[in-house]
Amino acid sequence: MMTGTEYIESLRQLKTEIYAFGEKITNFVDHPLFRPHINAAAVTYDMAHEPEFEDLITVKSHLTGKKISRFTHIHQSSEDLVKKIKMLRMIAQRTGTCFQRCVGFDGLNALYTTTYEMDQALGTNYHTRFVEFLKYVQENDLMSAGSMTDPKGDRGLRPSQQADPDMYVHVVKRTDEGIVIRGAKAHQTGIVNSHYMIIMPTVALGEADRDYAVACAVPVDAPGVFHIFGRQTNDERRLEGEIDTGNARYAVVGGEALTVLEDVFVPWDKVFMCGENQYAGMLVERFACYHRQNYGGCKCGVSDVIIGATTAMAEYNGVAKASHIKDKITEMVHLSETMYCCSIACSAEGGKTPSGAYFVNPLLANVLKQNVTRHIYEICRLAHDIAGGFIATLPSEKDFKDAKTGPYLEKYFRGVSDVPTEYRVRMARLVENMTGGTALAESMHGAGSPQAQRVMIMRQSNMEHKKRLARRLAGIPEQD
Ligand SMILES: Cc1cc2nc3c(=O)[nH]c(=O)nc-3n(C[C@H](O)[C@H](O)[C@H](O)COP(=O)(O)OP(=O)(O)OC[C@H]3O[C@@H](n4cnc5c(N)ncnc54)[C@H](O)[C@@H]3O)c2cc1C
Repeated sequence: MMTGTEYIESLRQLKTEIYAFGEKITNFVDHPLFRPHINAAAVTYDMAHEPEFEDLITVKSHLTGKKISRFTHIHQSSEDLVKKIKMLRMIAQRTGTCFQRCVGFDGLNALYTTTYEMDQALGTNYHTRFVEFLKYVQENDLMSAGSMTDPKGDRGLRPSQQADPDMYVHVVKRTDEGIVIRGAKAHQTGIVNSHYMIIMPTVALGEADRDYAVACAVPVDAPGVFHIFGRQTNDERRLEGEIDTGNARYAVVGGEALTVLEDVFVPWDKVFMCGENQYAGMLVERFACYHRQNYGGCKCGVSDVIIGATTAMAEYNGVAKASHIKDKITEMVHLSETMYCCSIACSAEGGKTPSGAYFVNPLLANVLKQNVTRHIYEICRLAHDIAGGFIATLPSEKDFKDAKTGPYLEKYFRGVSDVPTEYRVRMARLVENMTGGTALAESMHGAGSPQAQRVMIMRQSNMEHKKRLARRLAGIPEQD
C-alpha cells in the first residue's frame, strides 16, 4: 500500500490534462488550487499506515489474501459495511472535508455485484474481467473516481431523445479491440487527483438507449480525456495566503471537475457493460445506495469539527455558559449523531448479494441521505448563529498584518481577553469555510438530489404490508 507521499508522487507520473481559470495547468500537484484536495486524499493513504486505524482502513483482500486498503475492498460482511462508516468518520475528523476516495470505492462495489448478476442472467463474462481489473487496483492501491453523473441536458427527455446525443456518455464505435465512447461526466469529485475513472450510466435505460448502457474503467489521463476544474466558494483565497482559507491544508469538499470524453478508446478488458440496458438501473441503484450510506460517516466526521469549532467560538466570545448556546450545541450533536445512527443502521442491516458481496439496506440508506440534505443545513445554521456576524464581515489576513489597520483589528476583533485575536479569527474562518455554499450544496446534491431518495424510500417502503397491519387492527377483512 502507498503512503501519502508515494500517492502524491504517483500523480506526477500521469499526464492528466486539466484546465482552470481559463488556463491549462502544467503542474497541478504543486498548484495551490489543487494541492489541498490532493492532501485530503493523501490522508486516506497515510492513515492506513497508522496502527490505531489499521483495523478500519486496511483489510485482507478476498481475492488475493493480501493486505489492502479498504478503499479498494469488496464488502464481505455487514461488519465490513459498518467499518466503512467508522473509517469515513475518522478520516473526516482529520481533514474536516471530503477526501474523495469513497466515490470510486462505491463504484467498484456496485460493479462487482451487478456484473456478477448480469453474467448469471445473460451468460456474459463482465464479472471475470472486472475482477482482473479490481486485483490490479488492489495491488497498486489506486484511487478511482466514481463517474456516474452525465450532464443530462433536458432532464425531461431520455438519453436517446436529447437534441445533442452527447448529453449522456455513449458508445460511438465498437471494434475487435474495444469501444470508443463520447460525452462528459459532471461534478467529478477528486478526479484530477485520481488514477482511474469508473464510468457508469446515470439512469435506468430502455431499449432505445442501449448505446448509453456503458460501464468501463478509463485512466484519467487517457487520450481524449480532459478535466475542467470547478470553482468553490472563496477558492481564490488559496492563491493569496493561509488564514482566510479557513482549512488551508485540506480545503472545502472534494475538488470537482467536468470531465470531457472526446472519442476515448477503451479496450475490452476494461469494459464491464456494453449495451445491456436492462442492468443499468440495477447498477445505478447499487451505486447510489452504497454512496448514500457514506454520508452519516464522512458528514458526521466533518460535523464533529464544525461542532468543536462552534463551541470554541462560543468560548472565545464569552457566551459558552449561556443556556441557549448549550442547547443549540446539544441540538447540533443530536442532528449529527442521528445521521451516524442511520449510517450504522443501513450497514448493520445490510445483506448478502448473489456475488457474495454485501449490500446496504437500501431503505435506510436513502432515509439517511434524506436526513443529510436537511441536518447539515441546520447544523450550519446553528454554527452561524453561535459564531456571530463577523464570520461574514472579517477583513483580510493582509489587513491584520498591515501596519496601520492591524493594531485596530487586533484590538476590536478580540473576544474574551485571555484568547489571542488571531485564534478567534482563525476559528471564525474555519467556521465560514466549512459551512459555506459549496459544502452545503454537496450535502444536498452529492449522491443524488432529495427527490431521488424520496422515490426510493417510497419504492422500498412496502406499503401493502403497512396497509395489512392497519386493516387487521381495524377489523377490516383482507381484500381479494
Ligand atoms: C459536490 C458534489 C460532488 C459530486 N460528486 C460526484 C461524483 O464524484 N461523481 C458523480 O458521478 N456525481 C457526483 N455528483 C453529482 C450528483 O450526484 C448530482 O449533482 C445529483 O445527482 C443531481 O444531479 P444534477 O446536479 O445534474 O441536478 P439536476 O438533475 O439538474 O437536479 C436539479 C433538480 O431537478 C430535479 N430533477 C432532475 N431531473 C428531473 C426529472 N426528470 N423530473 C423531475 N425533476 C427532476 C431534481 O430532483 C432537483 O431537484 C456530485 C455533486 C456535487 C454537488
